[in-house]
Amino acid sequence: MKTEQEREAHRRFVQALQHEHLTCAKPGCGGPMDVIDHTPHSARVKSYEATCERCHTVEKITGREEHAPAWDVASITMMAEMHLLHEQPSCPYDDTPITFISLPNPRRKARYRLQCYYCGRHTEMNWPPPEAKR
Ligand SMILES: [Zn+2]
Ligand SMILES: [Zn+2]
Repeated sequence: MKTEQEREAHRRFVQALQHEHLTCAKPGCGGPMDVIDHTPHSARVKSYEATCERCHTVEKITGREEHAPAWDVASITMMAEMHLLHEQPSCPYDDTPITFISLPNPRRKARYRLQCYYCGRHTEMNWPPPEAKR
């Protein structure tokens, strides 16, 4: 079970991930925050640094890397199907919105990487996924 503090940290992570406005968490401030993505190029987990424009508090917002247990086929299929329906799938372990990244396709076959930037779980699949063809 997550603590209230962990839930709040996750909520702020999702806001940063979705480029939503973050407000300063310092009591009595509530100023707008300037969020910079500090994620290294090859990293699977995102890290941000938010700076309050009013009181200049700096807050680090990062995911929590966790790879086990991996996504199973059923949850990967469900994420793909939601994406096909233009809905936003989320990671079954931490409820973070999944990012779909289109990969270079040498044989004109679409390939996607599904990535959770919070826990770092990811997988690749051909597109459309064979399970979705009905
Ligand atoms: Zn502030
Ligand atoms: Zn995740």
